[in-house]
Formats: sequence, structure tokens, C-alpha cells
Amino acid sequence: MLIRCISCGAEYDLDDVIYTCSKCDSILEVLIDPQVSKDIFKCRKSTMWKYKEFMPVDESKIISLDEGGTPFIKCDRLGEELGVNLHVKVEGSNPTGSFKDRGMSVGITKALELNVDTVGCASTGNTSASLAAYAARAGLKCIVLLPSGKVALGKLAQAMFHGAVVLSVNGNFDEALEAVTALALEGELYLLNSINPFRLEGQKSIGFEIVDDLGWRSPDRIVLPVGNAGNISAIWKGVREFYEAGFIADLPRMTGIQAEGACPITNAVRKGAEDIIPVENPETVATAIRIGAPVSSLKALRAIYDSDGSSDTVSDDEILDAQKLLARTEGIGVEPASASSIAGLKKMVQTGEIDQGEEVVCIVTGHLLKDPNTAINACKEPISIEANAQSLSKVLKGL
Ligand SMILES: *Cc1c(COP(=O)(O)O)cnc(C)c1O
Ligand SMILES: [Zn+2]
Repeated sequence: MLIRCISCGAEYDLDDVIYTCSKCDSILEVLIDPQVSKDIFKCRKSTMWKYKEFMPVDESKIISLDEGGTPFIKCDRLGEELGVNLHVKVEGSNPTGSFKDRGMSVGITKALELNVDTVGCASTGNTSASLAAYAARAGLKCIVLLPSGKVALGKLAQAMFHGAVVLSVNGNFDEALEAVTALALEGELYLLNSINPFRLEGQKSIGFEIVDDLGWRSPDRIVLPVGNAGNISAIWKGVREFYEAGFIADLPRMTGIQAEGACPITNAVRKGAEDIIPVENPETVATAIRIGAPVSSLKALRAIYDSDGSSDTVSDDEILDAQKLLARTEGIGVEPASASSIAGLKKMVQTGEIDQGEEVVCIVTGHLLKDPNTAINACKEPISIEANAQSLSKVLKGL
């Protein structure tokens, strides 16, 4: 096992504290080479550590809250409405309510292996909520930088309540990340943003679970929201590792959805470009993907091109409509960013980019309760009644 630069191929030791290539400045990935049969996964508890042979950390040090093993829901009603064979992977069911827990479990375990005492990140919210919880469980100090006024209430509550030092930055996510990265490079803290390749090693387990849940085969397509572009890169790495191990015979098309106001990856895909041009002043109701300069863009673009996938944008209205559609057709409550996968699927079936009848897995990335304000604002106020049967009956008759 080793760490390798995805651009120049320079190799580094697994215990080097390094976030970008010291030769060419590009981003890094962890290479593993497990020689196992998929039969060893049978009868194991359904968490992401079911696949521990594929995780590049010391098994005796694992910090876990039983992340992963999330619901994989067949959505026949919504699928019929949209014209595809649909499964939804519900990442809001992770311990802190988003897929970030998978990455943090591996990232914090790695932090313990490296003997660091302080961890930190910049975050649009969920990374900080997750890091704060896993740092607490590991007994590490935790500092998080959040863009002032742009973090959903549930996420802020989590980061503060788990005991992180919460810094509110006068700037956007991209600027906060730049600041905390500089601090990490001076050795002040161990950085657990998704530029840290160990984060993606945990998140690749979403890909493992999808093919395992389908009975060891790949869906036609995986659709997910893209912000900092770590997750799409991670899931592609996961399905490719199982493909290379001979566990599955096909690969899915990776389809990344961005918000119209924060879409550097989609812009690059439309031009067939190998890298992005950052979007200045990104803006969207889906705060978790309000990112203009995604750090994993090179990996994400390769995932999309190598898988013959695609990318499209959705408007804030389309996101909020899809959030409601999923909640009311299937009973699955997700935060706005997560609903962009459903909104994107709907749009791409309409444009013909996705074929009728395809087998599609949509990843919904975070829980509805992460952003209670947006949910409440999207609804009418409760009907107030007197506390007696007559007033209740009057309301029921009017329904
Ligand atoms: C982090 C996050 C995303 C974006 O994932 P990236 O890896 O940054 O592309 C999407 N949705 C939610 C809910 C998130 O927390
Ligand atoms: Zn390099």
C-alpha cells in the first residue's frame, strides 16, 4: 500500500503527512492491493468495515460509530414517475446524518495512527458535524472553519455540541479551506478535508455497498450531487476496486449533478476539458454543494470521462421541488443538496441523456433535519384549532 500522485505518479509512504504532491502540486490517492475472495464479507455486520481488507488503516485502531450499511431503497413509485428503474441510497442514515461519517471514520483512525493531537477542516457544514463527533470519540482536539451565515442550523448545532472549536469565517467555503490548509501545512493540525486521500478511502464504501446490495453487479448509472467532488471520485474508486478484484463484471456510468450557481465541473464536462475553471462567488440554496473551486476536480472529471458518464446542472427551484417529491412519494427526507441527484435524474431523463428504463442508483447524501429552516419555509403553517372534536372534525371534512 502507498500514496501516489494522480498526475506525475510520484509515490509516498502511507505514513507521510502529505496532502498534495511535493513534486507537481497535484492531488494524491491511496493505492491498496488486497488479495481476498468476496466470500469473506458474508455474515459480517452491515457497516462499512464489512470491507475492512480494502481500508488502508490498522484494524486495531479503528474509530467507528457503525457508519455505512445505509438503506438501499427500491423506489417504484418515483421510478415510474421518472421513467427509470430506481434505487435510492440513503446516506442521511449515517451516525451524524451524512456520508461524511464514512470518510471521517477512516480519517480519524489515520490521525490516531499518526499520533496527532489536533484535527481540523473547513466545511459547508456536514464535514464539521462529522469531524466533531469522530474527534470526540477519539479524544482529539478539533477546529472547524465555517463560512459565516451559510451553514444549515442542524449542522452548526452538531459541530458546536460535540465540542469542536467553531470558527465563523468572513468568506466562502473556498476561502476557508485555503486558510485551514495553510495552517495544516505549517503542522498546526491534521487536515481532514477531502483533499486528504484517506477520507475518500472511507467514502468509496458507498460503491462497495451498492454492488453488494444489488447481488454483486453494477447498476447502469450512479447519480449524485457534486460539490468539492470528493464523493464521486471515491465511489468510482470503490466500484473500480471491486471490478479489478473480479467481484463484478461491469461498471456504472458516473453522473454528477451540480447547482446552476456552483457548477465548475459541469462546465468542464460540457467542453470536454481536463480541468475546471473556478466559479467566483458560488451561490445556491443547497449549501452543501456551494463550492466554486472543488479540490478533487481532476479525479471527478476522470471518473466521469472514464465511466462514459456525464454531468448536468439544476436550478434551486428544481432542487426544492425534487426534495419535496422524494419526501412525499417515497417518505425519504433529505437536505437540499441531496435532492439535486433526484432533480438531475428528472432533468436528464427529459433531455434524453438518461434512457427510459435504465437501472439508476441515486445517492441522497444528507438528512432532511440538517436544514430545518429550508424545510419549514417550503411548507404552509400548521392549521391551528381549538382542543375539541368539533374543530378537528371541521378540518378533516375540509381535506
Ligand atoms: C459534502 C456533501 C456533498 C458534496 O460532496 P462532495 O464530496 O463535496 O462532492 C453533497 N451533499 C451533502 C449533503 C454533503 O454533505
Ligand atoms: Zn505529482
